[in-house]
Amino acid sequence: MIKDLVRPELQKLVPYVSHQIPYRIKLDANESPFELPASISKRLEDYLKNGPGLNIYPDNESTELRKTLAKYWNVDSDEIVVGTGSNQLIQLIITVFVGNGEKVVYPWPTFSMYKINTLIAGGVPVEVPLDKDRDFLFAVDEFIDTVNRERAKVVFLCNPNNPTGGMISLEDIERIVKECSNSIIVVDEAYAEFCTQSAVSFVKKYENLVVLRTFSKAYLLAGARCGYSISGPEIANEINKIRPTYNVSSLTQLIAKMVFEEQKEMQDKILYLIEQRGNLEDSLRKIKDVYIYPSFANYILIKVPEAGIISKELEKRGILIRDFSNDPILHDCIRISVGTKEQNDIFLKEFSDIINSFL
Ligand code: PMP
Repeated sequence: MIKDLVRPELQKLVPYVSHQIPYRIKLDANESPFELPASISKRLEDYLKNGPGLNIYPDNESTELRKTLAKYWNVDSDEIVVGTGSNQLIQLIITVFVGNGEKVVYPWPTFSMYKINTLIAGGVPVEVPLDKDRDFLFAVDEFIDTVNRERAKVVFLCNPNNPTGGMISLEDIERIVKECSNSIIVVDEAYAEFCTQSAVSFVKKYENLVVLRTFSKAYLLAGARCGYSISGPEIANEINKIRPTYNVSSLTQLIAKMVFEEQKEMQDKILYLIEQRGNLEDSLRKIKDVYIYPSFANYILIKVPEAGIISKELEKRGILIRDFSNDPILHDCIRISVGTKEQNDIFLKEFSDIINSFL
């Protein structure tokens, strides 16, 4: 009975489940391996003791956090919208622009939420395949043709791309924004700190561009749920019209601002993870029968002989990684987040041990 009342386009969806299993090392969700610096935990405690209290609603506009972000990015505060994770902004942008039967175009494979939120809105997802045989090569001309032919309302470019790790050049991004001027182009830069390239500087020039950033990866705060968009003021205003009131908690606003102000420490952690990524890639290349796709993010996609079995075996040994064995395209792949040197060494030891047992 309930099912019959549900909108037809939603009946086939299944809830997103994040398995809560005990682990020794968690390398499955591209989180940061670092905990909050002690100085910030201390200031948080002070806030809980002496701040306005959680009985009071947060600042609906996340004013102080937006000011800090605007200064860093050299944009105006009214060009930034803060959400409970960039996930919320993905959903809000689709809700603003995509109606029944309207198209959303993105390369495939990519972050699954673009598709899910398009379906929720009653829109039509259009996937442009990346070439798996050529390290998931992105063909920009074909992509631009598809966007314009399909009259896409919204385009998503995940850059670097999750889960493949590849990157689209700024030159190609600018071409897409310019040549697809009837579409909203969303560049999701959830992992951009690890490739040191960003499309934010184009925002002043192109009114159809939105860049999404998150605190969940390089800024240690996946558990606090905080992300933001940078766009021209017109798009920001449209998002604000439908943004749920008080969407970002006062604790999250405070903690995100504090973490962001610790730029030196954050940049050191980013550089450390980029170095660890290089070391991991070097070690993985030496293991027989595995192939690694080039990565510009804090994770590596690895082609392996038996993705499902290897993932299960790693899980038994307390190591969580992302298993793609049920995916039609990535069925022979696993994805691992880059951890600390100690975590990566344990992973490498167990992983080579399991691979050797296949040979
Ligand atoms: N974009 C991409 C590409 C992601 O991989 C993720 C998280 N896995 C998100 C957005 C969402 O991040 P959050 O909601 O935690 O900001």
